[in-house]
Amino acid sequence: MSEDNCIFCKIIRGEIPARTVFEDEDFKVIMDASPATKGHVLILPKRHYDDLFALPEDVAAKALPLAARLAARLKEKLGCQGINIVQNNGEAAGQTVRHLHIHVIPRYEDGRKADVTWSHSTFDEAELDRILDTIRQNG
Ligand code: AMP
Ligand code: ZN
Repeated sequence: MSEDNCIFCKIIRGEIPARTVFEDEDFKVIMDASPATKGHVLILPKRHYDDLFALPEDVAAKALPLAARLAARLKEKLGCQGINIVQNNGEAAGQTVRHLHIHVIPRYEDGRKADVTWSHSTFDEAELDRILDTIRQNG
């Protein structure tokens, strides 16, 4: 998707409204319009990157510390008991907006379900070894 048509670029340019939680030169943090839980926010880099594969390392290096600061604030102010950090890349992974974003999702021990879980798969030992051979990297 081009930056002209990207909904998050439009929010960053102020062309469509959003509830802004935090802003600095690199990021805008907004409340998710369809939150999974109370206080679900999205970290948006101000420059458009489709996904993690396009994200420069210097921007990436600032993203997790920001997520940690937001998580601490949500915990303090909303009293959540846990936080999920979720970042989807590609349709297969559930990415619906092709402007990289990081979900910061407060979790509460209130018995209400939020769908940030997955079912587990099983692989036999030989297959696990083949997968390891394929993906192992040094450095
Ligand atoms: P993902 O499925 O990881 O691509 O997440 C996209 C997220 O963006 C969803 O949680 C949507 O609810 C959220 N979203 C889409 N449009 C807007 C918008 N205009 N303002 C705030 N959040 C939005
Ligand atoms: Zn964009």
